[in-house]
Amino acid sequence: MGEPSTLLPLVDTHAHLNHPRLLSKLGQILRRAREASITHVVVVGYDLPSSEKAVELAAAHPDIISASVGIHPHDASDVQPESLERLRALAQDPHVVAIGETGLDFYRDLSPRDMQRQSLHQHLDLARELSLPVIVHCRDAQEDLLSILESRRPAPLVWHCFDGDQEHARRALDLGAFLGFGGRLTHRAAADLREVASQVPLNRLLLETDCPYLAPEPHRGENNEPSYLPLIAQAVARTRGCSVEEVTNASTRAARAVFRIT
Ligand SMILES: [Zn+2]
Ligand SMILES: [Zn+2]
Repeated sequence: MGEPSTLLPLVDTHAHLNHPRLLSKLGQILRRAREASITHVVVVGYDLPSSEKAVELAAAHPDIISASVGIHPHDASDVQPESLERLRALAQDPHVVAIGETGLDFYRDLSPRDMQRQSLHQHLDLARELSLPVIVHCRDAQEDLLSILESRRPAPLVWHCFDGDQEHARRALDLGAFLGFGGRLTHRAAADLREVASQVPLNRLLLETDCPYLAPEPHRGENNEPSYLPLIAQAVARTRGCSVEEVTNASTRAARAVFRIT
């Protein structure tokens, strides 16, 4: 007799519990995450203060939280040599399992594109120097991101909140990338994304909430949180026509391998 599928261990590979909207409710959020069988959460920094907070949260809750440190492409224009020194120092902490999120966001263009590219290269340098995985974010910049990644070939590579097409996915997978999927998979308009997710090998597919953003149905419009991750595992299983157990087992194994979480 198997356990109910929702009780299989799950790793939320991209969460912003360091975000002010979630920080004030951290105790309840972690309790609900544990109840939903979330065994680990990678808390991802998006600027220096949130990266510091991610490390702090991981040090306070090492049984369930690990940290990633980086500066989001939105804030690429703020990246100074001192910011990279600070990231390098933060990344020495044993609770840090990745560098990021970095990447390119040409949808909102909140920093000039050249500065986004430069910051991405600097994060890739740091990840290589420290032998850590790098987490990239991409919006409306798949071609530009892929050409940089193909020239740099970072490994391991996590492309979070993947929303490229089949060809982008194939090129990313050729680079050895792990592709993260979240709440958008449950949204009615995301049929193309579901088709892409149905083709990604399960040992390269990561589950993420990107909370507090992108809550899955039926929580759309609310704050997202790690306890909603089973809804995303179910959406992946539905779109692939396989069992939730199969999705959960493979993606949890992949998440633990890429972030070296035991
Ligand atoms: Zn992102
Ligand atoms: Zn994020």
